[in-house]
Amino acid sequence: PDSVALKGVTLTYGRKVHALDGIDLAIEPGEFVAIVGPSGCGKSTLLRLVAGFARPTGGEVRVGGEPVAGPGPDRGMVFQQPRLFPWLSVRRNVAFGIRRHPGRDARVAELLDLVGLADAARLRPYELSGGMQQRAAIARALAPDPGILLMDEPFAALDALTRERLQEELRRIWQQTGKTVLFVTHSVDEAVFLGTRVLVMSKRPGRIVLDLPHQPDLRET
Ligand code: ADP
Ligand code: ADP
Repeated sequence: PDSVALKGVTLTYGRKVHALDGIDLAIEPGEFVAIVGPSGCGKSTLLRLVAGFARPTGGEVRVGGEPVAGPGPDRGMVFQQPRLFPWLSVRRNVAFGIRRHPGRDARVAELLDLVGLADAARLRPYELSGGMQQRAAIARALAPDPGILLMDEPFAALDALTRERLQEELRRIWQQTGKTVLFVTHSVDEAVFLGTRVLVMSKRPGRIVLDLPHQPDLRET
């Protein structure tokens, strides 16, 4: 896993939308950081900066001690929508980012096991439920073995029961793989259930107003 550090990070869209305004944040390798806050408080923007999809207007973002210059295989991303390639099998979707890796097939099989999709390897995304699609998206994000997993409301579009199952599964995957996770949600319940640390953000301007170390209940359920 990798560390994440933001120093004095601001991001202003146009002239006056201060999406982020002075973010200082240090995340240790292996933490599960849940970021919660109302719509528009800058959660996605924060994640996009760490992903390298955007650059800050001011300040600095570092991953594993190195300034972020763009997206890279050290950071896997999962979005609210699974964004799988509809014409590819689950297996090929997961293999997509590691096409030229030796041992790829074994790696894909291992990942499908990890997310519980071993029996769905040959199916296409439209043959899967929403929860299965999201599990495939998680496997795809993990394929290049990133130190960091970035998740932007990954379960928000799922029904309540599926969401609960996926939360349990994600916790298990995090325990098994030891990744650093940044998990954005607007659900306080979800943040408190999953996070070993919970950040609360506020709107106008986007700031971290609470940074709570948290010991989630890790009993097997
Ligand atoms: P959240 O993920 O917490 O809902 P966002 O990071 O998406 O918040 O957005 C933070 C603020 O930045 C909001 O006011 C939003 O309207 C604005 N914003 C986000 N993306 C853009 C963009 N591409 N152009 C202009 N304003 C944006
Ligand atoms: P299609 O997308 O045409 O249905 P498959 O899903 O059967 O193709 O296979 C897609 C890719 O999955 C293959 O090109 C191969 O790289 C990989 N693959 C094949 N066998 C295995 C396996 N046993 N475990 C994991 N990956 C495999």
